[in-house]
Amino acid sequence: TGPLMKGRRGLIMGVANDHSIAWGIARALAAHGAELAFTYQGESFGRRVKPLAASAGSKLLLPCDVTDPASLDAAFETLEKEWGVLDFVVHAIAHSDKNELKGRYVDTTRENFLRTMDISCFSFTDVARRAAKLMTRGGSMVTLTYGGSTRVMPNYNVMGVAKAALEASVRYLAVDLGRHGIRVNAISAGPMRTLAGSAVGDARFVFKWNKTHAPIKESIELDHVGGAGLYLLSDLSARVSGEVHHVDGGYNIIGLPRAEELKA
Ligand code: NAD
Repeated sequence: TGPLMKGRRGLIMGVANDHSIAWGIARALAAHGAELAFTYQGESFGRRVKPLAASAGSKLLLPCDVTDPASLDAAFETLEKEWGVLDFVVHAIAHSDKNELKGRYVDTTRENFLRTMDISCFSFTDVARRAAKLMTRGGSMVTLTYGGSTRVMPNYNVMGVAKAALEASVRYLAVDLGRHGIRVNAISAGPMRTLAGSAVGDARFVFKWNKTHAPIKESIELDHVGGAGLYLLSDLSARVSGEVHHVDGGYNIIGLPRAEELKA
């Protein structure tokens, strides 16, 4: 017994600021005794991540842009040198051109389609391959997705297509890495007020609609996603792999809201 994550070492990718989902998961893990390394994208995010990493007791803060394989190699080389063994990874990274997170999906450009897929989908596989080499005593990986993968959400567009591919890649990775004792899962979070979340057109309407029409009519906060992250990255979820776990107040189960809700 003792703290759930004591003696466990993991990499957190995707903290931009203290509203980031990756930060919500990181602080839950740190509170349970995990030792963390953080990556950041570019120096201006780096300045924000530095005090957060320090407050989580982290000594490893590494620059990494997932579109640059050399920066990924460098980050994992440092992890190998400093730690040798890795137990878990959080991938909370996505990007699409803001101009295409509004309007019609059919108007998506080739350039933004490929870039969105590269950063929001392929990067997880690219990270998983590198991380798996260091997970010599088994491990757990988590990525972040959204219900726009399986159902059409306004303005989510090409990001929904990328999330569908990301969720499929979770299942393929779960099989490839399962034989090494590595579990791979996704958390499908409801709408949250982060930098990335606010880039989607009509974001305020989407937050409000989810809150009004989900079974649990409360906003989704960092601690809620943090709890799910702690579960999926710890032994509490041993034998859970290839799942897409919803933390959305139950919104995904709804077919139609009750008539009273629309009148309210
Ligand atoms: P955020 O803006 O705080 O985090 C997004 C992160 O992606 C940032 O840290 C950014 O630096 C990183 N990133 C983007 N391009 C990168 C690149 N080329 N290299 C390295 N890092 C890069 O927003 P968030 O909402 O915390 O997003 C985290 C994840 O959660 C994303 O995958 C997002 O799609 C997903 N998600 C968000 C919501 C929501 O409503 N906010 C809901 C479900 C899923």
